[in-house]
Amino acid sequence: MKRNQNDAQIPINMNLLYEQLLKAVDIVIHAINQNGETIVLNKPILTIKAKKSQPSTTPFRLLKTEKSPEPWQGGTTVMKNWLNDANHTVVFTGAGMSTESGLPDFRSVNQGLWNQQDPGKIASTEALNYNVDEFIDFYRTRVLNVKDYKPHKGHRILADWENQGLVQSIITQNVDGFHQKAGSENVSELHGTLQKLHCQSCGKEYKSEEYVNQEYHCECGGILRPSITLFGEMLPQDAFQLALAESEKADLFIVLGSSLSVTPANQFPLIAKQNGAKLVIVNRDATDFDQYADDVIHSREIGDVLEEWNNLRF
Ligand SMILES: [Zn+2]
Repeated sequence: MKRNQNDAQIPINMNLLYEQLLKAVDIVIHAINQNGETIVLNKPILTIKAKKSQPSTTPFRLLKTEKSPEPWQGGTTVMKNWLNDANHTVVFTGAGMSTESGLPDFRSVNQGLWNQQDPGKIASTEALNYNVDEFIDFYRTRVLNVKDYKPHKGHRILADWENQGLVQSIITQNVDGFHQKAGSENVSELHGTLQKLHCQSCGKEYKSEEYVNQEYHCECGGILRPSITLFGEMLPQDAFQLALAESEKADLFIVLGSSLSVTPANQFPLIAKQNGAKLVIVNRDATDFDQYADDVIHSREIGDVLEEWNNLRF
């Protein structure tokens, strides 16, 4: 997107908008959606304003861009107040949450299992259909792998907070089931779970122990597969819709251990922010969404950060 001073009447669509937001370093979109509501994403350096487009298949039209007098200041640590004051806190967890339990990060370039095996080939519907032995072999390893590790103190603190009414919901990209193991109940698993299998033919559900016991077939004769999202499949719609509803309701949205690089999962923090939530991001490295956050913490263990916040509260 070129930052011309008068980009008048350029129709854009939502996907493109988000795509550009990921790349942008210092802009925000001020827009009016189809319900006539204004959407503001962050404190801008550069502002783009829009008006309702009608009639149009694209939701927004750019009106003009202008310099904002208010530079982006970055966040301040006021977590104690935010946690205590929030009515609807949603936590979004990614691979960093699991790696602190010792689980390998499947997307990590250097040490992930993807490196050893091409995910496009193994973790795909194609492999399930045409290369089923290799598929099962790979996922049996992953199922066994998850059983070798357990939730850490961060998972347990989140479960305590849910129990105390401080956290209303968890949205996770992880498939290890550790949040539930730690005691959390309201969990949207965006990419499914390795704790369950189901029959590819009839849909009947099984526990992942079947794989441990080298049972790979349903009683109907169909292949048992892990209940996760494979390459080439859609996200589970129930989990996705719940995550969307929770993000819209949130007044505090905390990202833990996600680089927010996977779309559409990474749209939830933006949706929360659009709806007025405070956004806090805790991740090892900087993310493209840090600029929209009210507080950002890098290079720290998530478990330690949560423990610190937990101690702050008392
Ligand atoms: Zn079956």
